[in-house]
Amino acid sequence: MESASATQSAPPASGNGGSAEGTVIDVHRPVDGSVIRSVPVDSPERVAEVVSRVRASQTEWESIGFRGRRRWLERLRDWMIDNEARLADVMQEETGKVRAEAEQEAPFLSGTINYYSEHGEEFLAEETPTPHILPLKVKRLRIVYPPYPVVGLISPWNFPLILAFDDAIPALLAGCAVVIKPSEFTPLSVMELVRAWKEEIGGPDVLDVVNGVGETGGALVDEVDFVQFTGSDRTGKIVMKRAADTLTPVSLELGGKDPLIVLRDADLERAVNATATGGLANAGQICMSIERVYVEEPIYDEFVGRLTEQVRKLRQGRDERGYEADVGAMTTPAQAQVVADHVEDARSKGARVLTGGKRKDGPGDWYEPTVIADADHSMKVMTDETFGPVIPVMKVQDADEAVRMANDSRYGLSASVFARTSSEGEAIARRIEAGAVNVNDVLTTYFAMGVPMGGWKDSGIGFRHASYGIKKFVRPESIVAPRIKQGKRDPLWFPYTSVRRKIVNRANRFINARGLRNRLGL
Ligand code: NAD
Repeated sequence: MESASATQSAPPASGNGGSAEGTVIDVHRPVDGSVIRSVPVDSPERVAEVVSRVRASQTEWESIGFRGRRRWLERLRDWMIDNEARLADVMQEETGKVRAEAEQEAPFLSGTINYYSEHGEEFLAEETPTPHILPLKVKRLRIVYPPYPVVGLISPWNFPLILAFDDAIPALLAGCAVVIKPSEFTPLSVMELVRAWKEEIGGPDVLDVVNGVGETGGALVDEVDFVQFTGSDRTGKIVMKRAADTLTPVSLELGGKDPLIVLRDADLERAVNATATGGLANAGQICMSIERVYVEEPIYDEFVGRLTEQVRKLRQGRDERGYEADVGAMTTPAQAQVVADHVEDARSKGARVLTGGKRKDGPGDWYEPTVIADADHSMKVMTDETFGPVIPVMKVQDADEAVRMANDSRYGLSASVFARTSSEGEAIARRIEAGAVNVNDVLTTYFAMGVPMGGWKDSGIGFRHASYGIKKFVRPESIVAPRIKQGKRDPLWFPYTSVRRKIVNRANRFINARGLRNRLGL
């Protein structure tokens, strides 16, 4: 059988609308490059079949109501809780994450199920607005929220379960059927959870997975009623163009270049600890990773020194089921190459690499945790998404320069500000062009389900979490019906006679003008 190696053939195909070159994808272990197993690629015909099958089951899924669907999702939660270690094993193997990080995904999703189970019904509740003008008082206005029948979900490799199911869960609760196309680098975790839904939980046939690269993803876009995409802005734009052919709505969660600002009177130790975690967790492969740091001049040297000392102490390696490592492997060789390129570019333009700064010898995709001082915006590491374990730091004269630099980016996903007080931090946060800002913290906006999470500028269109995260999967249907018995003809209907028009014109003036004299035309 021909084989399309995810780690070799996928990068050129990704984002180019290309196709997997073979009939299977080889999924690798990033820690040493060995093959875990091969997964068949789904052709466009097979994608159409899967979508049509789940579409046929969606009507019944919708008809069981929110509470009926909630019971199924709660079974999925219970299964995840009982099988957390197994899910973490699968994910750790295909991503190269350290154990502590592989263990974060299933519990997070149990929280997503609980949050939307508890609030979803209220978010999707029918509304009965009050008519805004007197003549409409005879009508009952109602808004109902039926789901898009089938949602196609295309997801990336850095959080294989969260970035598929954090949307699949609210979509299912809203009444949609869902077909997921996971990243070709990490399909196994999603396949395992979908298998559990079908085989162990016996869930209705409204959730499935298709595998492949651009051809499979593109076919999914063609078939579904709503596209939820998470990935690079390059592929996001291709997906949006393709969706335009069928006028299919899209929600895009894309890349970022998240800044962190440290003001001179912030708690320096907390800022250093947060920067190390925010920049290097998941080996820096988080859309909301701290990708650039701006520090006020009076504390710059001390900040850089302490950060370097802290990063040098981090343990990088594979730790299986133990907790012996802090920083894992990079999931794809292509991403490791981007990181190496950014660091070399910064070095060649005069930045100082204080620790790390190279790939680790031996098999697998490893890049050392890296701190770069004296970075500036002529360097790719400060302007392009690095998506790896690198923290570049730049000196700024004051808060105004920090804000200016933070906003000097085509991205606007999230940001962090470290200040003496929350209110000083919030004042800076309001000036930052990003969908979410943490004050004296990092990454937390994603875990706070009560606030929306989504990108501005090239970081995306649409939001997850809060009411936004479920309402995007439904479309409002307005129903206007009489409240009282009606006459045979309304005043605005045919025929247009001068008497009736006079009455209507006077009524219009009375309704729209303000002040009694004006209303009466005096
Ligand atoms: P990617 O854009 O290469 O791939 C994302 C998905 O799109 C994969 O499943 C891929 O197979 C699929 N795909 C590729 N070509 C396609 C095509 N022509 N049509 C349809 N689908 C296609 O991204 P990636 O490398 O997997 O993920 C890393 C990127 O994702 C980074 O930029 C990161 O910042 C971003 N990301 C964003 C968020 C967020 O919530 N904003 C979260 C995680 C990652």
